[in-house]
Amino acid sequence: MAKGACALLDLVVNLVFPDDCRVCGSALRHVSRVPVCAACLAEPQPLLAEFFCSDCKTPFVNSAPLDEQGRCTLCRLGLKGFDAVYTYGSYEGPLRQLVHLFKFGGMRPLAGTFGEMLSRALPRETSFDVIVPMPLHWLRRWQRGFNQSALLAREISRRWHTPMADVARRGKRTAPQAGLTNSKRRLNVQGAFQVRGRLDAKHVLLVDDVLTTGATASACARALKRAGASRVTLLALARTDRRAFVEVAALRAEGARA
Ligand SMILES: [Zn+2]
Ligand SMILES: [Zn+2]
Repeated sequence: MAKGACALLDLVVNLVFPDDCRVCGSALRHVSRVPVCAACLAEPQPLLAEFFCSDCKTPFVNSAPLDEQGRCTLCRLGLKGFDAVYTYGSYEGPLRQLVHLFKFGGMRPLAGTFGEMLSRALPRETSFDVIVPMPLHWLRRWQRGFNQSALLAREISRRWHTPMADVARRGKRTAPQAGLTNSKRRLNVQGAFQVRGRLDAKHVLLVDDVLTTGATASACARALKRAGASRVTLLALARTDRRAFVEVAALRAEGARA
């Protein structure tokens, strides 16, 4: 196509689809199914930590909360319910914005980008018998029109050549977990999950979008184990990283002592 015709086409496209990147606001030059620029899509990086729990991978500022096996208190006490956890990035900045566009902005094609990140978080050598998405309460699913975790689970199922089974149900409508303490969160979601059918001796990969304290995922993992699962591995796209808050609190404490 002649240069002039290309420019004209871009002009027409820009007139028809005048769009800015929903993350950084820069003008989008190409038509795409997701109104986010390539730079913002490539921005989220894997979460790195010097100290983390060997089981749930919770990052810590130092090794003090970890035992000789490298486990955190909750894993040592068996309160997590799942056997291993893999997550991609920290739930902040562009990744947080992308997750919001996906869940609340209905931008389902982002599932492809997230699928890449999720497969990077999973070690190549691991295998599973079945992939189960974290369920939403039916009312929430109906309001949103889709379950974001099911879209993510489908991506992993395709890449890992492992069947997906949407067998978990969230029966009880629970109060929002935000603002509750760890133990209150555990009580809040107790008995909230049911599993259809049996998963005897199966290694289940439970897929979720965001991991906060793990209380919800842990209640779901327990329900999967009651249905016979021998092992439950949790895979989430993002996790909240509290180290920043811990460091600020530690600095304040030091300041108070000085
Ligand atoms: Zn951008
Ligand atoms: Zn742990």
